[in-house]
Amino acid sequence: MAVDYQSLAVRGVQALSPYQPGKPIEELARELGLEPSGIIKLASNENPLGPSEKALSAARNALSELCLYPDGNGFDLKRALSERYGVNPDQITLGNGSNDVLEVIARCFADSDAEVIYSQYAFAVYPLVTQAIGARGVSVPARDWGHDLEAMANAVTDRTRLVFVANPNNPTGTVHTADAIEAFLERIPERVLVVLDEAYCEYLTGDEYPDGVRLLSRFPNLIVCRTFSKAWGLAALRVGYSLSSPEIADILNRVRQPFNVDTVALSAATAVLSDEDYLVRSREVNAAGLIQLADGFDRLGLSYIPSVGNFIAVDVGEKAGAVYQSLLSQGVIVRPIGGYGMPGHLRVSVGLPEENARFLEALSTSLNESGQGV
Ligand SMILES: *Cc1c(COP(=O)(O)O)cnc(C)c1O
Repeated sequence: MAVDYQSLAVRGVQALSPYQPGKPIEELARELGLEPSGIIKLASNENPLGPSEKALSAARNALSELCLYPDGNGFDLKRALSERYGVNPDQITLGNGSNDVLEVIARCFADSDAEVIYSQYAFAVYPLVTQAIGARGVSVPARDWGHDLEAMANAVTDRTRLVFVANPNNPTGTVHTADAIEAFLERIPERVLVVLDEAYCEYLTGDEYPDGVRLLSRFPNLIVCRTFSKAWGLAALRVGYSLSSPEIADILNRVRQPFNVDTVALSAATAVLSDEDYLVRSREVNAAGLIQLADGFDRLGLSYIPSVGNFIAVDVGEKAGAVYQSLLSQGVIVRPIGGYGMPGHLRVSVGLPEENARFLEALSTSLNESGQGV
């Protein structure tokens, strides 16, 4: 008799739907019979500048070592991170993207009896890693599209092991001030770990925003997660990390795969940390692009969620599916976020000025086609 393997999967996994990535350029090119060069992708919050030259040359140099296992301790990268952020190398846990670190944290600290708290409209990976280990996810209703930190603190029970906070949040682009995050951390018992996901922190300028690293000494239950995928422009290489107490890092290291970051990725990430010009340009292009997109939405009469990330969620209404398809047919890939419970919004990543302009023009055409033009 045939075995029903569905029923053999652990219960959380049975109910799981896989993470929906942005549509790859190559895939749309095949579907439309277009050249990939004619397509723009503003769907995965990637850095529109292309990789840093310093990172590229370090990656090339690392190729001669492909026959060797990587440095499982990531010595050089940890040293570079520790110098940049003023932490000890033993506070750093490297991951195959910060996604990997988020999953390792969940596996280390939660089991099927645990509750894990996150916000409505927060990053999709939090419910994913929670369900995969059979823990109970507690999604706290958002406030003005952002985390309701007070309600999240109130949701803590005896069973709570973890709270995920994305600051800034993806896909809404909302952010909390340093004061708000500190007040929140004060309210969380020390036996509950708080994961502060700062994937977009490099885009923040201004003293009012928190720097998770500076909070580590005051809050022993804090884990700060960061990534090289966004402002540092290395999404393909999969490098992220967490900063925490050495004690927590030691626990994470037991579960982390020993060679989870490869040699090319380690080399490129180490090199890009010294490319300050690249980071500055990333910020400048992003800040200008956010304004360009917001102005464009204003002209089209569309509302959007003001964002501090490298993306904006724009409200195109009931026909968002048709608008998305029409954009695709014009060679523009953005991200539908119905899976986040935001069926009327599309998330668009900030591109180069000409890409943003082309997207806005395509959007205007799409809205006219779907009868939503103003
Ligand atoms: C993009 C993103 C990440 C990072 O993903 P990587 O695995 O490092 O590429 C983490 N958290 C949030 C909120 C993100 O948007």
